[in-house]
Amino acid sequence: MIAIVGGGLAGLACALELHRVGREFVLFEAAPVLGGRQRTSHKDGFILDHGFQVVLSSYDAVASVCDMASLQPRWFESGALLHDGRRLTHLASPFENPVAALISQAFSIPDKLRLARLGAELLLTTTEKLTARCAALEDVSTRVFLKQRGFSESFFSRFAQPFFGGVLLDNDLSTSAGLFLYYLKKFLVGRAWIPAGGIQSLPEALGSQLPSTALLLNTRVAGIFHDPHGLVLENGDTLRADKIILALDEPSLCQLLRLPAPPPARGVSGERSPPCAPLCSNHKHRPRVRAIRLAFDLRHRP
Ligand SMILES: Cc1cc2nc3c(=O)[nH]c(=O)nc-3n(C[C@H](O)[C@H](O)[C@H](O)COP(=O)(O)OP(=O)(O)OC[C@H]3O[C@@H](n4cnc5c(N)ncnc54)[C@H](O)[C@@H]3O)c2cc1C
Repeated sequence: MIAIVGGGLAGLACALELHRVGREFVLFEAAPVLGGRQRTSHKDGFILDHGFQVVLSSYDAVASVCDMASLQPRWFESGALLHDGRRLTHLASPFENPVAALISQAFSIPDKLRLARLGAELLLTTTEKLTARCAALEDVSTRVFLKQRGFSESFFSRFAQPFFGGVLLDNDLSTSAGLFLYYLKKFLVGRAWIPAGGIQSLPEALGSQLPSTALLLNTRVAGIFHDPHGLVLENGDTLRADKIILALDEPSLCQLLRLPAPPPARGVSGERSPPCAPLCSNHKHRPRVRAIRLAFDLRHRP
């Protein structure tokens, strides 16, 4: 038996792979539901995702683990709305709507040209070359990279921080420039969407393909042992396993392996607010909306 610890997207995708090749597994999930960080609540007819989470059509792995059409994708328009407390500026995608992108007052023309050049470079780069470039930029922060490319401070405050600060969960843009380039290309070639039922529908779609008897909810793993391999559950039960796969978030992983706790995750809270998006959307009552626009609140919060 293969034991998978964690029923978020990683654990579920792993379970699905094993199930497809006929391997026996048991998935242990501490929470009463599957999905991990991808969670949705329902209130007064509204569908409320916990945190702003989108799927990009350029994430090839998604189509390999579920039937996207059954999730009834609700598409976001490429581009965004930027709100600075005084006006709402439309930032159109230069590739889908070049005229609107050119006349948009989102940021200066030199910054638009820099972004278009960077975007064109990425579009012309093969996946292999991009992977090598991302690895080479591992130690360079996104902020330093963008500075080196000549982007202005207003580009940072009006676009890079609210948008990529939210994507990377890092308002300082200290995340590696390699990861930034990877996501920028994914955004350039793909469109963002959320399932009509909220983001949790995605892990649920994976879970629905698995035998329910192999999914143990409300079952926290408290420890693992070796020689022979096995698990200790929170209730004290022990179980043998041929292999153990830990599909956990970093703090849970460190806790389980008795490693020092990781530094707190970089957040987008603090001086600047996190990106604000139209996450509350009563889809049932808005059937004619074809593409939703993503909105960013650029205002400083006290
Ligand atoms: C605010 C926010 C926005 C995001 N936006 C996006 C986005 O737009 N697009 C995108 O692709 N990704 C986004 N992400 C990232 C995405 O949510 C995660 O990468 C993904 O959900 C992680 O899945 P995972 O399976 O690795 O971990 P998790 O989802 O953390 O799953 C780990 C699971 O392990 C369980 N567990 C922990 N300890 C134990 C234990 N001891 N025993 C048993 N079970 C245990 C937990 O309950 C949890 O269910 C966002 C994340 C956040 C927080």
